Amino acid sequence: MKKKWYDYLWIGELLYWVLGLCNILFAWLGMLFFTIPLLVALIGGSKAYCNRYCGRGQLLSLLGQKLSRNAPPPRFLRTRWFRYSFLAFFMVMFGLMLRSTYMVFAGAPLRQAVTLLWVFKLPWNWAQVDMVAPWIAQFAFGFYGVMLTSTVLGLVTMALFRPRSWCVYCPMGTMTQGVCMLKQKKEDGGCGGEGQKDCGAAAASRQ
Ligand code: SF4
Repeated sequence: MKKKWYDYLWIGELLYWVLGLCNILFAWLGMLFFTIPLLVALIGGSKAYCNRYCGRGQLLSLLGQKLSRNAPPPRFLRTRWFRYSFLAFFMVMFGLMLRSTYMVFAGAPLRQAVTLLWVFKLPWNWAQVDMVAPWIAQFAFGFYGVMLTSTVLGLVTMALFRPRSWCVYCPMGTMTQGVCMLKQKKEDGGCGGEGQKDCGAAAASRQ
């Protein structure tokens, strides 16, 4: 089948990581990965983003062809309580990151580190951030950490289970799913239709 332009959005995902390594301020571009799926769900009432435009999902599919065990993800990952608990946890950690940004805005010193898996502080001293206000840089460090953490989780679950097992509990997928359900006032199975089907593990998880 002839590939469409959006089949190559995984390159954008890779580019994001490379740009962020070159200059942490490019981490702000990750806001697109947050806002676009929500806008698509809010305006279109579908999971078209997961279906077609998610570069991370595409990348996991591609890498998973070689690196995945292709085992079914554990049952608990598919449960509602786990997906919504993980979303809540993720949002709390996101809120703490915003709080750190505010504290720098209010005068606290900038911390040049990227936090991986909410615990490990990776020193990022080579970053040149003098050209912007410290809080702008602090948000970039924090947001890059959020994106890096979710990518590492995605890669680990890709390797251990099916390529797109991350989609089973991806906070963005859970959020857009919730928006779809609210908007369409339907059961999960009707939300996003094709999007769910193409989201592989995510589709099965949200029954
Ligand atoms: S569930 Fe998350 S990673 Fe998977 S396609 Fe949707 S937004 Fe992308």
